[in-house]
Amino acid sequence: MIHTLQPQSLKSSLISLDSRQIYDAANTAFFAVRGIHHDGHQYIENLYKNGVKEFVVENEAWTSILSEKAKKWNDADFYLVENSIQTLQNLAAQHRSTFSYNLVAITGSNGKTICKEWLATLLNGTYHLVKSPKSFNSQIGVPLSVWAMKSSHNLGIFEAGISQPGEMKNLEAILKPSYGILTHFGEAHGANFIHEEQKLQEKLLLFKNSKTLIYRSGHWDKVIQTFIKNINPTIELIEWSTEDPTKNVFVHFNRSANETQIKLKKAAQSEPFIDIKTELTDEASLENICHCLIMAHALGMDNLALNQAIKRVKPISMRLEIKEGLRDIKIIDDSYNNDMDGLRLALPLLMKYETKKKIVILSDFLEIGLPEENLYTQINSMIKNLKIDLIIGIGSQISRNKDKIAGIEVYQSTDDFLKSGRLNSLFNAAILLKGARKYNFEKLVHALENKSHCTQLEINLDALQHNLSYYKNKIGLETKLMVMIKAFAYGAGAVEIGQILQQQGVDYLTVAYTDEGVELRKNGIYSPIMVMNPQIEEFAKLIEYSLEPEIFNFELLKAIDEYCLINEQNIKIHIKLDTGMKRLGFESHEIELLANYLAETPQLWVVSIMSHLVASENLTHDIFTKNQISEFKRMSAILTHKLSYTPLLHIANSAAIENYPEAKLDMVRLGISLYGITQNKKEIKKIENVLTLKTYISQIKTVDENETVGYGRKGKLNKKSTIATLAIGYADGYPRSLGMGKGMFEINGELCPTIGAVCMDMTMVDISHLKEVKTGDVALAFGGKIQLSKIAKNAKTIPYEIMTNISSRVKRVYVKN
Ligand SMILES: *Cc1c(COP(=O)(O)O)cnc(C)c1O
Repeated sequence: MIHTLQPQSLKSSLISLDSRQIYDAANTAFFAVRGIHHDGHQYIENLYKNGVKEFVVENEAWTSILSEKAKKWNDADFYLVENSIQTLQNLAAQHRSTFSYNLVAITGSNGKTICKEWLATLLNGTYHLVKSPKSFNSQIGVPLSVWAMKSSHNLGIFEAGISQPGEMKNLEAILKPSYGILTHFGEAHGANFIHEEQKLQEKLLLFKNSKTLIYRSGHWDKVIQTFIKNINPTIELIEWSTEDPTKNVFVHFNRSANETQIKLKKAAQSEPFIDIKTELTDEASLENICHCLIMAHALGMDNLALNQAIKRVKPISMRLEIKEGLRDIKIIDDSYNNDMDGLRLALPLLMKYETKKKIVILSDFLEIGLPEENLYTQINSMIKNLKIDLIIGIGSQISRNKDKIAGIEVYQSTDDFLKSGRLNSLFNAAILLKGARKYNFEKLVHALENKSHCTQLEINLDALQHNLSYYKNKIGLETKLMVMIKAFAYGAGAVEIGQILQQQGVDYLTVAYTDEGVELRKNGIYSPIMVMNPQIEEFAKLIEYSLEPEIFNFELLKAIDEYCLINEQNIKIHIKLDTGMKRLGFESHEIELLANYLAETPQLWVVSIMSHLVASENLTHDIFTKNQISEFKRMSAILTHKLSYTPLLHIANSAAIENYPEAKLDMVRLGISLYGITQNKKEIKKIENVLTLKTYISQIKTVDENETVGYGRKGKLNKKSTIATLAIGYADGYPRSLGMGKGMFEINGELCPTIGAVCMDMTMVDISHLKEVKTGDVALAFGGKIQLSKIAKNAKTIPYEIMTNISSRVKRVYVKN
């Protein structure tokens, strides 16, 4: 039906002026607006087909073609009007007039949105609020905001902004606010004054019918007083000042580096009516929060309630960033408040990425004035019709409500989510991140971001898990498992690997130095931890962090004994015996003495006795190894015999687990094989590679036969070639000895030999044989087709050295499928 009159009311409860922002078509009225770059009337046919049933259209844009079509759309209503925006404003004013509760209106040059958000934060719980989304304060934004008013609310907070004279009276007519805040209004200088004064007066028109206005005293006091008293003689002006104690409210800030105490005092009183502490410290924030405190007080909140509420006030970011991420991911990082409006406004950005998987990651919502269960049902209805491939919820509230959002995956915290490795399994996706500040979504952004130096070591957590299960199975239930995570877990990241191992119920973790153990403890690892090389000066630290030292000579033994006596401490220790390594450990001739000593020092509790094999990976030393094992059994028996309890015995490293099943004893010490590395030909087939070192091509060049590549003119070519420069060098831990063709990189499935010398940050490879290649393509140093063991061999070293040399600037990325 085509109506030639303005609508008196609309059936739809939602309004949209943006064809891309329609979620609930059957319940949305579309206002066609003509802008400079686009015309909303163009979308009408499409919107009708998608289920929109109410349209407000402009006479001038209503073509005969549209009109003919519209006649056939019997189930739709079209309102032909002079001006869609004006119609919208009229409807909004009418809608607002049906509610008798108070509105607070905020205007000024700076800080409107912040004030609105903070005031809402303070009043949340005391009132059922409705407020403008984001910075919706324009001729369109205000009516749209007001449209959200419902009878279930009992207070509205709206911002109003103007860009030219004549606009404020429209907004005032819609809002009719009882309370007003005039936020910071800039200083004016000389010639500009008249112009600025007019602007201020225009803004003040918003409060023509208000009963209270709050502003900070300063420069403009006279102008404000004269003008406002003229248009609204009965208004109560609350002027506050940090300088003049005679003003209505006198404010005192007591600032320190990370906190400010604010005291507010009324002119005639000696005691403050608000005395509060906030983490805000900068001048602009303090000014804004003062407006809010005074307003909240005027609306009935007392000092006690405000002291509670201010804890929720955090700096607000208006930022939304779209970033290139790793693995073809677009990150839409929207750090603005994650309320419903924020989500609604950000979703269209996500939907733009048509060829990518669409993923939304949400934290608990900070929606105000809605019970939890309705909140998540509403979020579900907002997103269920969009083709979103994955929704991830982070936080305890959203987790509790997971049955309300179809298909959501939930995690208790951002750290839990990161640890799960799930993030790293995402690729070719657009990800919308909407997280409340305290959820630290910047950690997710960071993990997803494409760093300029993006050489990275990928740690495949599924493969790690597979290998761990394989070895657990192999050693059986009777044997305990200790995993060596010294040296940053062989370069893979001690904290991350430690956390996984702890979760998997590994019995012991071992590090080389006390500080490595402390680092683990500080990151939530409570599994038993052995420290192989404790320093005497660090005993206090060991005890403080429940780290268990390995004791390998009498000097250490006596020192720890003394420490225990002086401090009246009992301590768990591990005794190391030397059965052939000639490195650390008590020797055969010291065993009797050691046994007697330990028998008389019950404050030292020997948890385990251990020794280390010299050549368990190499069967040519089979006799030597077997001898070490029997020697260990003999020596440990002497000790155990003298003790009134039985310590755990262990000697097997990775290779011994594989080659000497008889050496597994009470516990084994798994190291390198956890990462899928072994020299054992049978075993290598059972375990999976965990580590992949990835870089990319920075530049491609054609080099003539007579030219050379790199330092010292070492890279000689025997024909015209194409070479690629890779973003990895010996400073990243790629061995310099792999230059001159000794090393290879896998690029697009092909092996490419190095050419010339490896540089500090770069390496050149010959890619003449590649058909399709371009800058930015990935190059694998190992993982994929190239085994870490193989390049270690070419570099005349062992995998351990390559792994632990990968420098800290190489980002560790944990991947899970
Ligand atoms: C590092 C280490 C291990 C583990 O060795 P892998 O060869 O990596 O299995 C075992 N025991 C001791 C004492 C170690 O220092």
